[in-house]
This record gives sequence, C-alpha cells and structure tokens, in this order.
Amino acid sequence: MDSALGPPEAMAEKRDELTPMMAQYHDLCARYDDAIVLFQVGDFYETFCGAAERTARLLEIALTSREDSTGEYPMAGIPIDNAESYIEELLEAGYRVAVADQVEEPGETSGVVERAVTRVITPGTLTEDELLASDDNNFVAAVARGDASPGEDAPLALALLDVSTGDFLATSSTSRESIADEVSRFAPAEAVVGPAAPDDLLPADCMVTPYDEAVFDRERAGEKLSRYFRNPDALLASDAEIRACGALLSYAEYVRGGAHEGERGETDADDASEDEATSDDAHLEYLTHLTRYDPREYLLLDAVALRSLELFEPRAVDGRDDATLVGVLDETASALGGRKLRDWLRRPLLEPDRIEARLDAVEELTSAVRTRERLHEHLRDVYDLERLIGRISRERANARDLRSLRDTLAVVPDVREELADADCDRLERLHDDLDPLVDVRELLDDAIVSDPPIEITEGGIIAEDYDEDLDTLRRTARDGKQWIDELEERERERTGIGSLKVGYNSVHGYYIEVTNPNLESVPEDYQRRQTLKNSERFVTPELKEREDEIVGAEERADEREYELFRDVRREIGDEVERVQGLAEALATLDALVSLATAAAQYDYCRPEILERDGSQTLEIEGGRHPVVERTQESFVPNDARFASDRRLAVITGPNMSGKSTYMRQVAQIVLLAQVGSFVPASAARITPVDRIFTRVGASDDIAGGRSTFMVEMDELATILQEADEHSLVLLDEVGRGTSTADGMAIAQAITEHLHDRVGATTLFATHHHPLTDLADDLAAAFTLHFEVDQEDDEVVFHHEIAAGAATGSYGVEVATAAGVPESVVERSRELVADADDEGLESIDEEATNVDTDSSTAPTHETEATGTATADGGDIPADVAAELRALDLAHLTPVEALTELDRLKRSLEE
Ligand code: ADP
Ligand code: MG
Repeated sequence: MDSALGPPEAMAEKRDELTPMMAQYHDLCARYDDAIVLFQVGDFYETFCGAAERTARLLEIALTSREDSTGEYPMAGIPIDNAESYIEELLEAGYRVAVADQVEEPGETSGVVERAVTRVITPGTLTEDELLASDDNNFVAAVARGDASPGEDAPLALALLDVSTGDFLATSSTSRESIADEVSRFAPAEAVVGPAAPDDLLPADCMVTPYDEAVFDRERAGEKLSRYFRNPDALLASDAEIRACGALLSYAEYVRGGAHEGERGETDADDASEDEATSDDAHLEYLTHLTRYDPREYLLLDAVALRSLELFEPRAVDGRDDATLVGVLDETASALGGRKLRDWLRRPLLEPDRIEARLDAVEELTSAVRTRERLHEHLRDVYDLERLIGRISRERANARDLRSLRDTLAVVPDVREELADADCDRLERLHDDLDPLVDVRELLDDAIVSDPPIEITEGGIIAEDYDEDLDTLRRTARDGKQWIDELEERERERTGIGSLKVGYNSVHGYYIEVTNPNLESVPEDYQRRQTLKNSERFVTPELKEREDEIVGAEERADEREYELFRDVRREIGDEVERVQGLAEALATLDALVSLATAAAQYDYCRPEILERDGSQTLEIEGGRHPVVERTQESFVPNDARFASDRRLAVITGPNMSGKSTYMRQVAQIVLLAQVGSFVPASAARITPVDRIFTRVGASDDIAGGRSTFMVEMDELATILQEADEHSLVLLDEVGRGTSTADGMAIAQAITEHLHDRVGATTLFATHHHPLTDLADDLAAAFTLHFEVDQEDDEVVFHHEIAAGAATGSYGVEVATAAGVPESVVERSRELVADADDEGLESIDEEATNVDTDSSTAPTHETEATGTATADGGDIPADVAAELRALDLAHLTPVEALTELDRLKRSLEE
C-alpha cells in the first residue's frame, strides 16, 4: 500500500493514546484510505507522517513536524487560500484528495474542533473552476454488467456524469466494442468499474477507481436512482444501466463527502435515520436530468476514427492545437456553447429531420449577418450557467457567482429580442425556451449589491431596503459613526482644546487624543487609555458605549447578511431546473451561431441531406479538407461521387500527392453534414451514414505507435465484421506491415469482401497497383488517382483527383522537392535506372517488394552479385540487395535519407 494513503502506521499502533485531534486525523485516513487526506488546522491543510513526506516532495513544500505528548509526527501543510493549485498537482501525480474541513467554529466547542471530509477530489469529479477546462465536459464513468439472459451475452452498461454541470447519460449494449467506442467518444477522466465488467475497456489515461461492489447491486442501485428520478425503470433500458447509474450516483455522493457506501451496509437499523441524514446531505440537487441513449442513434466513431479525423486532437504529435475540426469550427462565445459544440461533434446525428432542423437554423443565421454578430456579442456576456447553478445548489457559490448569474440573466431579453422574428422552427423554439427568469433576476437585483466581495461572511453583500432588520442594524452603526464624527467638534468646544482629535485604531477602538501642552484642560470624565510621546489618548464612558453599539450592530449586520445570502442562494438553488433549461437554450444557440459563423467565414455550403431509404449516395463538388485548407496557403478542391452501384474507390498516386487528405476530407464532410453544419464544398448531397471506420496502414502511423501488423489486422477484422452498407470506410495503405505478396493478397481479399459482402461506401488508398485492375472486375468499384507532373526533374503536385489509375510514383522526385541533396537524388536515379534495366521477372517475398510502378519497379536477384558503382568499386551483395529492396516510392523523404545514410555507412565500414 502507498505510504501516503491510509492511516499512518506510527499512529495506528497507538490509536487509543493519540491526542483527540490526531485521533481524528487517523480515523479520517482510515475511512478515506484511497486518498490523501488534507486536514484543516486553522488556515492550513495539514498532512502527517507518510502523507506529509509524500506531499512535501511532490509539492516542494517544507516538511516540518508536530510534537505532542504521544510523539513527534512529520507534517507538511498548504495554505487554504491557494489550496487549489496544490490539489491540482496532487491529482496530476495520480492521487485522489479528501478535504477534511473544520465543521465547527473553534469557539463553539470546548473539546477538539469537529472535522469532516467535505469533498473528495478526483480527476473525474472535479467541480472547481480552477481545475476544469471551461469548454469541455469532465466525465466520470461507471461500467456495469447486467444478468445474462439465455442465449444472449450479458449487456454492458456505461453511465457518464459531469458533476460540475449535472450532465448525466447512460447507455448499454451487448457488444463490448460498442461500449468501448462510447467510452472513447466521451473520454471519461475516471471510471468506477463494477463486478464482472471487462477491465480492458478503458483507455490508459482513464483513472480506474475501485469502489464498493455493493453499490452495483441491482436493488440498491435502483433505490439510489429513485431518490433522484421519479421512475428510473421507465427511464432506463436495462438492469445493467440501473446498476451503472445507481453506482455512479453513490460514488458522486461519496466524493461530495456523503456517507461511504461501504459503511452504510453495516449500519444497524437504529442508526438508519442518522445515516439517512448524512446521505441526504450529499444529495446532488442539480442533477435533474438523466439521458438514456442508444449508441445507434448517433453516427458511430470509434477511437481510431476520432483520432484520424482530427476531431479534437491534432494528428501530428507536435500539431497546432487549432489543427483540429473543433479548432476550425469553434467560434462559440461562451463555455456553455463550447461544450455543446463538442457534444455535437462527438455525436453526429442520423435522422435527416433532426439534421435539417439544425441546418435550417445555421442557414438562417448565416445569412442574417447583423443578427448573428449581435447574438455573438450578447452571448459573450453569458457566464457558465451550468456550473454556476451547480455551485449554487451545492451551496458553494459566493456572492460574485450570484452576480454572474444576474449579469447573465440581464442579457437574456436582448438575446430573445434578436430571435423574435426568427423563421425556422429551431430558432423559434429557442426563442420560447429562453426563459428570462424574471423572478430570479428580480430577487438578485433586490437582494445583492452590484459589486459584492468574494468573502461571504463579512458583509457588504446584501443591498439596502432588502431586509428591515439589516437596515436597522446598519442605521444604528451609521448613526453611531455619525455621532462620533461630530464628537470632535463638540469636545473641542467643551474643552477649549483646538487641537483635540478623535481617532480609531483596531486595538483600542475609538479614542480622544490630546497633545501634552493641553493636558491640564482635560475634563474629569476622560479616562486615560494610552500614552504616546507627545500626547495622551482618552476615552469617555459615552464614547465606549457608542463604540460597543457600533461594533455590535456591525457584527450582527454581518451575521444577518450571511443568513440572508444563504437564504437567497437556497431560493435560487430551488430553481435549478429552470436555470438549466435556460443554460441549455443558450448553449444550443451559441453552438448554432458558431456553426453559422464558421460557415460564413470559410465559405461553406449547406449540404443536401437525403432520406435514408436504403440506398447510399455521397456526392461532393469542390470539397476541401476543413483543417488542411486552414493551415496552408492554397488548397485544391476535389469532387467525390459515390452511389450504391459505385461504392468502392481504389485510389492511387505517388507519395504526397494528396490521397490521405482526400479520403479524410470526404469523411469529415460527411461527419460535418451529420452534425448539422455547413460543409467545405461548393455542393454536397449526402445520405447519412451509421458509422465511419478509418484504418491507416501501420507504416503510415509510426508516430501513433501503432506499428504492428497485428494491430492493423485486428482493426481490420472489426471493420469486416461490423461495417455494413450504411458505413463509410476509409482504408489508407493498409496491408503494409507484412511482405508485399502477403500485403497484396490481404488488400485484395479485403477489397473483395467489402465490395461483395459488406457493401460499405469505401475509399481505399493503396500502393498495390494490381488492385486497380481488380477494380475493373468488381461491378461497383472504380479507380481514382492523383497525377503529378515532372518539370525539369522537379515534381509538380496538382493535388487534383481524376478517374483511373496512376501511372508513376515519382518517389525520387519527391525527395528532390523535399530538399534531399542533389548528389543523393542523382545516385537514387542511377539505382532506379539499374533496377528498371534488370526488369521484373520473379518475386521474392523476403527481399523485394512488388510495385508495378515503371519508374521504381524494383527487382531482385536471389544470388545477388556485385554491382558496378560510379567510381568503379564494388557494392557488396548484401548492400545491393538492400538497395533493391528499398521501396522509394513509399518512403518519406526523411526515411529515404535515413536509409541512404545507413547504407553509405555500411559501405564505408
Ligand atoms: P498522400 O497520402 O498521397 O501521401 P497527403 O494526403 O498526405 O498525400 O498530402 C500530402 C500533402 O499535400 C498534405 O500535407 C498537404 O499539405 C498537401 N495537399 C494534399 N491535398 C491537397 C490539396 N487538395 N490541395 C492542396 N494541398 C494538398
Ligand atoms: Mg497518405
């Protein structure tokens, strides 16, 4: 066990002798033994013993010690005021953190102050704004297995919860792959895994949290759910979903400081009522919606497709952050809109009606330029309502949060106004959904001053005229101060001391100051308080009485304010569903405005969405790659035309001519259309597809670390099993991870299978030229190619796709274009020429690679003999064989250079 976790050994040995405070620490560590316990002592969070040593090292803070009658304990503490940044470091180091706060005022108790864990902070359950990305959700997941019914696999369920926003989703499937795909779609930061759930479901960057198995129990989970939702059985589709959702709720309550479920089971009936109170305390009021969905309702994108279509992460390891689809499309003005847009991209639609509804709104907003711009401006003033209302209902919001809520509500009427004349249904409905929450706004206007402080216990928050008692207290304090202000004048007159002054300091309170020369004029009723070098300070009974009155009134005013503030916060907390409804409308509007802005800015067109009548059409005129066209100067648009009887394209062309870019742009255009976005093309007609599969040949994805042939074949197997005629399949140079003959054979078999059995719309980029012949034999297959020109030994890329197969592959010229030194290129040409002369007779799987390219056609000799070189020396047979085996057409320039360098070295040896 990690020495930073659990009760320290040094304490456990003598638990009963510990001082009350250390005993508290010990017990909290025992209870939260999967987390580092941060233990409040005054203004610090302290850790002791092993945890102290660990945190001191991790956080680079001083390791001190605490000594008491029972011994000396290592100690390290962080100031509460900026605990968040330290907590973030602990999370990054892979720890959970349990925050144990003092839950009593030190004055309230004679014994040791009571402490309790108020929240457990884990990567998947963050609510602190400082620790969260504003424009993305942060999910915690639960995976549970249901009971198997005869003849069928037990269903697997996935529940997902963003505790900062209250987004709560559930789905299930009997297919492990399908749940794995949903996991990659939502990329949870943490997962609670139930009994019998497969442990290979979660990606490496997801923290796996072992948690009490009992919470996955069907009955217990159902009970937990019914405390949140009226009829969970109707809401959810299977027992597995109930288990996952119920367990996730238990966990979410636990991290919020609720009862540890493990202990609940052991509680006696007698204690039940008390126990009830604890868990009600942790009830997440802002969790008002649970959305059950079927993965088949959305365009399915598995982990490989998400990555290769650059949805959220740049493909290049060192790629610019904005070199992603979301980077291009995100013109949202608010965090709400940013998250909504990401959700849409994550879950593109299938139903033409739903897609058209979004497209209508985007079209209307695209053409109404001024309206769109004004909306965008207004939306910039929208705060993160989902997280605000979450904090409000968790009673963790301060007065600034309430002000942010009010400022947001203040723009709602303006936003509504802009939509008053909207034509399309979607925008009309949004107009109606934009509830300005007049009552909430009035309450905030009446109750909270316009610029409240962050601190919520020190007054200055509640506005005048909101509460009579408060006004009275404030008046008393004000009158008292007024009286004191006038005191100076009165006392000067009474005593005749013109230099007499009234002052205030925090130790002695109000005083009257008289300089030494005037001391004989001091009246009887002055009482000496303080002697300074040149003067004396006095008080009078009357002055002290007034002072007490002022201070008393101020203190009571602060208390009253705090009480009122909490009342207001609770009252608003009760409106959580309405605030969430408004947040949803604003988020949707922001996402639509964002799509319209991108469409206008980048000259996208509205795609025509075809009914899903069984046939599959995909036509693109002048399509562009949305990301590549943003990152380079000029981009050559290309068409695509697929139909049910023309559904498999074999694409050839030299390296760097644009094959991969073309295939990805076709898929991205389809994806964007199904999101409800305009697309980078001059025209598009698209039947929505169910799934997009992409596979990139091993050698093309070295950076991704997926270089083994096994992985490639494994992925291919999935496609062949799961794709159907409504899928879009991209195969980019697959079958390269093995010898040429094998690779060729596999590629051919795959092509035939996809064509004959699967019927998916398929784009297959390949260097295996024989495949282009195969296309002639398959009724619904056709060939496309990229041509390049050679001008003065230089290659000119046109990036223009055309019908038919490519004629050459120009690998050497690509090397020139890439800046490989002239001498190297020259030598390569000689070698290519040699190879050509020797012709192409036999095939050796070991040493060569079949490529019918005339320009690079390699050859082989089983018994390689020495070959003449330019300077008349001999090239050893092994080097010659290696040279022949080099497939220049399909090496990147850097790879080519590296190979040459290696060969040259081996010659020099
Ligand atoms: P291939 O897969 O054929 O080797 P890529 O698709 O990777 O080629 O394209 C290589 C480079 O060519 C891209 O990085 C891009 O910069 C450029 N490119 C590709 N397609 C186009 C196009 N249609 N217009 C302009 N440049 C393009
Ligand atoms: Mg490529």
